[in-house]
Amino acid sequence: MKPEELDRLNNEFSGKSTEEILTWANEEFGEDLVVTSSFQTQSVPLLHLVSQYAPDARIIFLNTGFHFPETIQFKDGLANLFSLNIQELECLAGRESFEQNYGALHQSDPKTCCYLNKVEPLKRALKGAKAWISGIRRDQTAVRAGSNVIQKTADGVIKICPMLDWTAEQVRQYLGENHLPTHPLLTKGYLSIGCAPCTQPTSPDDHERAGRWISFQKVECGLHTDI
Ligand code: SF4
Repeated sequence: MKPEELDRLNNEFSGKSTEEILTWANEEFGEDLVVTSSFQTQSVPLLHLVSQYAPDARIIFLNTGFHFPETIQFKDGLANLFSLNIQELECLAGRESFEQNYGALHQSDPKTCCYLNKVEPLKRALKGAKAWISGIRRDQTAVRAGSNVIQKTADGVIKICPMLDWTAEQVRQYLGENHLPTHPLLTKGYLSIGCAPCTQPTSPDDHERAGRWISFQKVECGLHTDI
């Protein structure tokens, strides 16, 4: 897809609903669509909508081996609820070998830890895929605020962000109106949930991602920073 075509699509999708963007993506890419999900509370509206508007999409879960057990349970529950086609990926070395070779890499070098456990497996998952749907929102981080609905990754995959203009409040409303479940740790103060060693509970007034990598100058895992 050429830059002019990306511009045209972004103009066309300005103000369009998530349902309309997903319908286009499904017609355009069908089974070659991949959706990434971290299976936390914020993931639920997109998974709910994908199950209706792009039901053949492959859902990728990057299983770092560091997730909370509650996240794994929540993922399995959502897979049943929405009949999701989930593919799990782990680091190339495999969990056991990773721990033997790197130990607590998340403490010494979280950037490399995220690269090995998330970025590289996603690159593998996207090989052969034509398009990747991500649930990022502008109100989450500065990098995400500057995103477009349709982008092209460095590897040439079309990245589609149909939730970009949603707010945290809209997510809450959607979950309530559709009687959808929330991650079990939400009530314990975990507003945004990633790997257990890199996620802390926060107060309700904090920014959604204030509990992520709190000891480091790091707000992104790297999945959304190579555009
Ligand atoms: S979030 Fe933490 S544990 Fe998970 S991959 Fe990144 S650095 Fe490693």
